[in-house]
Amino acid sequence: MNASERPEVAAAARPISTIVIAGAGQAGGWAAQTLRKEGFTGRVVLIGDESHPPHERPPLSKAVLSGEALPESTRLMKPEAFDALALDWRPGAQVGRIDRAGKLVVLTDGTALAYDKLILCTGGRARRISLPGADKVKLHTLRTIEDALALSPVLTPGHSVVVIGGGWIGLEVAATARLRGAEVVVVETQSRLCERTVPAEISEHLLALHGAQGTRVLLGAGVSGFAKNADGSSVVELADGSALACDAIVLGIGLVPNDELAREAGLDCDGGVLVDARCQSSDPDILAAGDVAVAVNPWAGRRLRLESWQNAQEQSIAAARSALGLAVDYQPLPWFWSDQYGMNLQIYGMPMPTHRVVRRGDPASGSFVLFYLADDVIQAAIGPNAARDLRFARRLIEQRKPVDPERLADSNTPMSKF
Ligand SMILES: Cc1cc2nc3c(=O)[nH]c(=O)nc-3n(C[C@H](O)[C@H](O)[C@H](O)COP(=O)(O)OP(=O)(O)OC[C@H]3O[C@@H](n4cnc5c(N)ncnc54)[C@H](O)[C@@H]3O)c2cc1C
Repeated sequence: MNASERPEVAAAARPISTIVIAGAGQAGGWAAQTLRKEGFTGRVVLIGDESHPPHERPPLSKAVLSGEALPESTRLMKPEAFDALALDWRPGAQVGRIDRAGKLVVLTDGTALAYDKLILCTGGRARRISLPGADKVKLHTLRTIEDALALSPVLTPGHSVVVIGGGWIGLEVAATARLRGAEVVVVETQSRLCERTVPAEISEHLLALHGAQGTRVLLGAGVSGFAKNADGSSVVELADGSALACDAIVLGIGLVPNDELAREAGLDCDGGVLVDARCQSSDPDILAAGDVAVAVNPWAGRRLRLESWQNAQEQSIAAARSALGLAVDYQPLPWFWSDQYGMNLQIYGMPMPTHRVVRRGDPASGSFVLFYLADDVIQAAIGPNAARDLRFARRLIEQRKPVDPERLADSNTPMSKF
């Protein structure tokens, strides 16, 4: 057998003529434009079950929900730039099945499309709740443009909103609703806000911020059911027997990854599609990126699904490059931000209980940073209204440069001096 007959060589040499991208959100959009940027002139099929071209979601709980920005402003690309990509763009189409043996995706309308490489960018959907009375009331969620447009008109003075879930989406909705003059109650089952993602001191800061703006936050409060009042208002029933009457209920209780396609096709999944640092799934011709992908993150030392704007963009760029056979080693330092009542909170890395915490700045001022150190090396940093310091922190984390914790704590020592 000569070299060209060996299956792996033949496979490596096989030309890629069609790349299919399932899901046309932020990750799908970035994957498509990256393929063209890298010079791929073959067929790119972009399939999205929403009717909108690729767009970013962060403004949906902020400027779009508040009415300050139009949904069109969230588009990833200007229409001319999108057209220039010359994609086989299939809006309102849903991939129903992957036929790995035949290398086909089959749409729910029966259309079969062949692929040489398939990039899964199917993201996730808002988690729903199944409790008594859930069918009697309108339970808003916030994932899509349509969700934001449905909720926005209710957020006005004289209206009351109960937000179930004190995580990022819930708190951003609460902040936007409150800024627009609605009465807001946040109901959170855990004993502190954003318990899964931030340390206790930041949870306290968030609690104080929302309290100061007139939002009522109920911690350790479980929801037991829903009801409809005779006057049309909705009721959220709590586990302690109390009830909250309101005009709108918003669920902000997390995301369910859209990994069913991958699971049904037999790909390795673990709360999302498992991929490596090349964004490759357990099938080398299928890649995944964005909210649907799970990968080992070196900064966390474990598998993670990163639900963030940064990851949706950077991992899909990496996946597109990888699909073209370019060298890719995607090991991102996680970065996330949230905007609430004009406060900008940013997190780099993964704070862990084993880290030594160094505080810089006075929390009472509204601007401070908590650094998380291991052996005098910053591993993570988080803080409100401290974007400049955090930019320097990011560099120090990535460089793994040791710092003097005492100087770090001293806000008179500029971060640029480390
Ligand atoms: C309201 C809101 C505010 C946010 N704010 C922030 C923020 O401030 N900071 C931050 O870092 N991150 C934020 N995020 C997170 C960030 O927006 C997401 O991580 C990002 O949108 C993920 O992009 P994605 O393309 O992976 O997934 P998605 O945006 O979910 O896109 C996936 C797309 O695939 C489609 N799809 C699914 N299955 C199929 C199928 N079978 N066939 C065809 N299409 C399919 C979906 O309908 C969807 O259009 C926010 C998210 C939301 C919802």
